[in-house]
Amino acid sequence: MGHAHPLLRPEDLIVLEGLRSKGQAWIVGGWVRESISGKGDTDVDIATTLHPDEVQKIFPRSLMVGAKYGTVCVRLEEEVSGNQIWEVTTLRSDGSYGDGRRPDDVEFGTDIEGDLSRRDFTINAMALEYPYGDDSLIDPFNGREDLLKGVLASVGNPSERISEDGLRILRAFRFMDGGSEGIREMDDSLSDAISSSLEMLDMISNERICSELSIILSGNRVNEIVSKMEDLGVLEYISGSLLRKSECTLCDDLEVNLALLCREFDGNGGQLRKALRKELMLKNSILDEVCFLHNCREEMMSTGSGYLRRFAAALPEQRKIRVVEYMGALGRDTIAFSEALRIIGVPRAGLAPLVNGDDLTRETGLPPGPRLGMLKGWLHRRQVEDDLVTFDEVIQLLGEIDWEDSDPTEWKKMEWP
Ligand code: ATP
Ligand code: MG
Repeated sequence: MGHAHPLLRPEDLIVLEGLRSKGQAWIVGGWVRESISGKGDTDVDIATTLHPDEVQKIFPRSLMVGAKYGTVCVRLEEEVSGNQIWEVTTLRSDGSYGDGRRPDDVEFGTDIEGDLSRRDFTINAMALEYPYGDDSLIDPFNGREDLLKGVLASVGNPSERISEDGLRILRAFRFMDGGSEGIREMDDSLSDAISSSLEMLDMISNERICSELSIILSGNRVNEIVSKMEDLGVLEYISGSLLRKSECTLCDDLEVNLALLCREFDGNGGQLRKALRKELMLKNSILDEVCFLHNCREEMMSTGSGYLRRFAAALPEQRKIRVVEYMGALGRDTIAFSEALRIIGVPRAGLAPLVNGDDLTRETGLPPGPRLGMLKGWLHRRQVEDDLVTFDEVIQLLGEIDWEDSDPTEWKKMEWP
């Protein structure tokens, strides 16, 4: 009889025991990989001899969305584990890969080795049999050895495996990132297969490409991984040459990294946004940031007090961090900038305008409308730049601007840059 694995939680054991009462169960995929490195904080994915309907009988709260492909999302009673989900997948045997993306039909299998042989990389093709004992690890492709050596290799012939599913090209880069274990070296035969199978990426939806790319660009060891993507032609292929790594040093922030990879784009942020939207399918929130950063690329990051105060007041915290990171990577002296910013501190009167619209109508007689709004913005900008603290100080600025007759679109707004 086995004993519990030290990294498994009581809830995991309930799921495994339940499956075990009617069939066989193995932990597979990422959890096995991570547990060998001593970490147990990824989802516990499970393979079983039971078919989806049999799994549902044991766990009635299961979600059956992927049942056609053999995957059931098991949920325990709400009191036990809330809405936490375990992916439980019936063992598979080979079906064909018609569209280069997923098997036309899923055939359920009976042996775990067959199931493992359909997985992508040796480090992802291990299973841990339940109940757990000393010989529980099923590792027909020497994944453990590759994991400990830091090698990423395909299960079987890499060209064939990529020709079944082009997504594996991008997954290969994702799994080069070994977290605290450092970088994994790609096996040469896998590198060669990738560079000669780029057209397999045509079969992959833009959404999938972007979601894998986003994982890669916000992980560890991005510099080595993205350089490898560039060397093998993948970066160019998926981005229509928009993304270029070359000498540039990346960080761990997705948006900053995208902006850096686009640093040579000849056009403004809005044009870059359009181009990126055409080649990739990035979320608007990501495009907003990349576009903003790209528009900052000519900034001098001066240490003048008005400029610094506006930077401090106009941008959300995360955007400030990104701008500094991005401009630093482009070679600007962001150390001096950050230090000056720290010394200048926060505006004494806070971030809100001291003079509101009603005040301004009373003082100027201007009716509510765009002109009044723009005047309010102009005053706010000056308030921040000069670090004013009283209502009167701000109102006096009205003497410096022809608010009645000049063109309000010329009035500078409260913004940065
Ligand atoms: P993560 O911790 O990032 O979730 P993971 O290894 O669990 O890593 P998943 O994408 O969740 O990765 O996939 C689970 C397992 O399913 C993988 O370990 C691998 O064995 C298998 N797998 C997933 N996608 C593919 C694929 N496209 N081709 C072959 N096997 C795959
Ligand atoms: Mg997973």
